[in-house]
Amino acid sequence: MIAGTPLRLRCRRLVTASGVLDDAVLVIEGPMITAVETATDDTVHAAGDAERIDGWVVPGFVDTHCHGGGGATYATTEADEARKARQFHREHGTTTAIASLVSADLDTLAAQIETLRPLVATGEFAGIHLEGPFLSSHHRGAHDPALLRDPDPAVVTGLIDRAGGVVEMITLAPERPGGLAAIEAMVARGVIAAIGHTDADDSQTAAALDAGVTVVTHLFNAMPGLHHREPGPVPRLLSDPRAMIELIADGFHLHPQVIAVAVAAAGADRVSLVTDAMAAAGMPDGDFVLGGLRVAVRDAQARLLESDGSLGSIAGSTLTMDAAFARLVDLGQPIERVAAMAATTPARWHKLDEVGEVRPGRRADLCVVNDRGRLQRVMQSGSWVASRATEG
Ligand SMILES: [Zn+2]
Repeated sequence: MIAGTPLRLRCRRLVTASGVLDDAVLVIEGPMITAVETATDDTVHAAGDAERIDGWVVPGFVDTHCHGGGGATYATTEADEARKARQFHREHGTTTAIASLVSADLDTLAAQIETLRPLVATGEFAGIHLEGPFLSSHHRGAHDPALLRDPDPAVVTGLIDRAGGVVEMITLAPERPGGLAAIEAMVARGVIAAIGHTDADDSQTAAALDAGVTVVTHLFNAMPGLHHREPGPVPRLLSDPRAMIELIADGFHLHPQVIAVAVAAAGADRVSLVTDAMAAAGMPDGDFVLGGLRVAVRDAQARLLESDGSLGSIAGSTLTMDAAFARLVDLGQPIERVAAMAATTPARWHKLDEVGEVRPGRRADLCVVNDRGRLQRVMQSGSWVASRATEG
């Protein structure tokens, strides 16, 4: 392509926020989408030299909860390691990523944030998500119990301020002392308050929403389950329009029926597919370290490795966004709805206004999937990047 010449893609199916277009021409100049045209005689003529895309063009995936992949982690003080994990997920369709850090002591977190900060500045990451340390010891998952602490508002805001504007979201257990005030302080600083790894009951959940919670960290996982007399946090989080719910659709964290009921209850405009992936994603089974704890991956399922050699809590996933996308399609969700959950909804909720939709003025971040939702190609900022076809 000659510099300055627009790239024209003639797409068999194109998913826009307002519907699916058949035989549409997408015009890309530099890193941006500049036009979306349906195939009238004129545009088809003009698109005579357009590249044909025999599949579905959907917005590039937006993964707002991910710890690493390809053998590398974002919880590092080596920028190249974070870049390696980022590239691994990019090849699986993640064109926008928020880097998640697991519980650590505050100085370690600050050092990891300092490492990632330049990568946020250059756009490698859309921000940083702190999953802890303000979590419930009853639902700690793979977080080291010795590191968990109350969300004292002064500590929370100190951490945010020290990070210099790159903290996008913090997950906390709102029932811990200081939780509600911490949520209010976070919201006042423009940081998303996410409820998760929590023991909150229904009324504590309501209070957290009133205080400003707008995201639910992997609904169902690491929180009390739904019981008809003891509802726990799930029903309110499913139904309250103020919160977006993350789902880990790896076929292991959630039963397919639970995914189906969650999507039906919340709608695609309030559901976000996340990987919650750790370094083991894309790697052979083996032993890994997550937040200082030993993790064993067997049959692509990550669990804590206890000192007696037994397997404990689920410890993140080995999921990639293309696999999550394909799974939702396999569960019978239409491709345009899955595209909303994989890109449009998380982008809107996180106010990532440059991405998440295929339309003029947005960045040319695209995924191409086939009729079965399998990833074929990935475009980032107007350039095709190395992509891997989803298996299966
Ligand atoms: Zn996580």
